[in-house]
Amino acid sequence: MASTQSLKKASLEMLPSPLVDSSRRRIRKLRVSLLDACNFRCFYCMPVNVKFMPAAKWLRPDEIESICQNLVQFGIEQVRLTGGEPTFRRDFRDIVTRLSKLPVTKLGLTTNGFLLAKHLPFLKDTRCQHINISLDSLNEERFHKITRTSVFKQVRSSILQAQELGFNVKLNVVLMKGVNDDELLDFVAFSSEHGIAVRFLELMKIGQACKWQTARFMDAGTLVARLQESFSLAPELAENDSTSFNFKLANGARIGFIASESRPFCGSCSRWRLSADGFLRACLMAEKGVNLRGVLKDDYLPLLQQVLHMKPRARLPDIQQDMYQIGG
Ligand code: SAM
Ligand code: SF4
Repeated sequence: MASTQSLKKASLEMLPSPLVDSSRRRIRKLRVSLLDACNFRCFYCMPVNVKFMPAAKWLRPDEIESICQNLVQFGIEQVRLTGGEPTFRRDFRDIVTRLSKLPVTKLGLTTNGFLLAKHLPFLKDTRCQHINISLDSLNEERFHKITRTSVFKQVRSSILQAQELGFNVKLNVVLMKGVNDDELLDFVAFSSEHGIAVRFLELMKIGQACKWQTARFMDAGTLVARLQESFSLAPELAENDSTSFNFKLANGARIGFIASESRPFCGSCSRWRLSADGFLRACLMAEKGVNLRGVLKDDYLPLLQQVLHMKPRARLPDIQQDMYQIGG
C-alpha cells in the first residue's frame, strides 16, 4: 500500500502548479516581511509610539530560507523582501545570501532607503537586483514631516547610488491630496533626469490611514489626466499579473500607477505574503493566515490549499491592521 508521503508526492506531481485557486489565479509571487519594526514613522503607516512584535518572534534566517525553499518548490517564482524596514534587521545580509540560492526568476527588496547605501556593494554580488525605494517627497522639509525623520539626503543619495551601480531601481511614491500631490511633475522630472522609474501608489484604506484616507485620497485617473495636460503618455506593456499600469513619456520618464483603490487588481493577483513571524497570508487585506513555522515540507500541501481558499475574489473595503504589520 502507498504511504501517505508517496500519495502526497504523487498528488503534487499530477498538478502543473498546485498554487491555482478557484478563480484561476496562479500564485507565483511572495512578499516576505522580515520584521514589522522600522526606523521611520511615516504618518500614514504607523503611529509615533508604535509597539512592534518582540524580535524573538521573527523567523530566523534559516527558517525564512526553508519556508521560501519549500514555497518555491510549490510554484513561487519571485520573492521580494519587505517589512517594516527589511534593512533594519542585523541579519539582513545573511537572509539575502540564503535567499540568493533559491531558483527564483526575481529576488527584490522594498526599502525606505536610509540604510541602503551601506548594503549596496554587498547586494551587488547577490541575486537581489530589484530594489524599490519609497520616497514620498523630493522636498527635504516635507520628507521630514511625512517620515518623521531627517534623513532625506541619505535616502536620495542611496537611490542615485543604487541606480549608478546598475540595480533595477523603482521609486514608490504615495501621493496624497494637500500633502505632496503638487510634486507630481517634480517626480516626472526626477524620473527623466535619472532614468529611474517612478510609481505612484494610491493611498489605501489600511490601518492608520483608514480614518482620513477619503480626505487625502488621490486617484490614479486624476493624476493621469493631470499628466496628460503636459505630456503624451505611451502605455508600456506589463505582465498580466502586474499591479501597475505604466507609461513612457517623451522626456524619457517612466511613470507607473498602482491603483489599488480605484482599479483593484484582485482578479489577476498572484501574490502571497509571509509575515515576520511565519504566517502565510493570501492577501494584504486578509487578517488571517496559516502558520508555517516548524511545518515539515510533506505537510505543506493541505495548508497551502487552505491559504488558496482565503484569497478574496474582490477587493475588501478596508483593514484595521497596518501595512507594516502585514508586510507592505
Ligand atoms: N519600509 C519599506 C518601505 O517603506 O518601502 C517597506 C515596507 S512599506 C510598508 C511598503 C510600502 O507600503 C511603502 O512604499 C509605503 O509607502 C507603502 N504604504 C504603507 N502604508 C500605505 C497605505 N496606507 N497606502 C498605500 N501605501 C502604503
Ligand atoms: Fe517604515 Fe515603510 Fe511604514 Fe514608512 S512606509 S513607516 S518606511 S514601514
